[in-house]
Amino acid sequence: MKAAAQYFKNIWDAVSTTAAGMRITMKYWLFEPSITVEYPDRLGKGIKAEDLAADRYRGFLGLNLSKCIGCLQCMRVCPIECIKITTERLENVRFITRFDIDQSKCMYCGLCVEACPASALVFTKRFEGACYDINELCIRHIKEAVKAAAPKSKAEGQNSENRTGRINEY
Ligand code: SF4
Ligand code: SF4
Repeated sequence: MKAAAQYFKNIWDAVSTTAAGMRITMKYWLFEPSITVEYPDRLGKGIKAEDLAADRYRGFLGLNLSKCIGCLQCMRVCPIECIKITTERLENVRFITRFDIDQSKCMYCGLCVEACPASALVFTKRFEGACYDINELCIRHIKEAVKAAAPKSKAEGQNSENRTGRINEY
């Protein structure tokens, strides 16, 4: 008799716990708004994936060249040498001749963003990096030499202490 009671109790437990789970599933299916998106097929018209990322999301690094003073702080602080910058000084004016960031190596630690005294480096919300050639993820931010911005604050000026008259190769 005891064994029969246990048998029916097991059946009851199986049915009741499954029903409890299904009740929650049905509630979210029928009555609650979706909080996930079928990416990338059902983003919705006019919605970009980047729009859905959280405000503090760390995607590919973006460079505001008009702010960059060419101080090399970001390159020096990067623990895995993702950033390659070269500068050249001509008649006391600094030019940035190369600014590459290898996103395939980047671990998104944010040290370079924190170290930048000019707030020229920022995280964007871009996260789509699928490609056939990994070299495509080495982003070349400048194609030809650009004049570096002038340091605005004393701190920026100290950080931008730099060698003169030669190309810095790294
Ligand atoms: S986020 Fe970190 S790993 Fe990526 S480039 Fe900056 S310092 Fe290097
Ligand atoms: S200003 Fe910022 S982005 Fe430009 S070299 Fe210095 S640390 Fe890097």
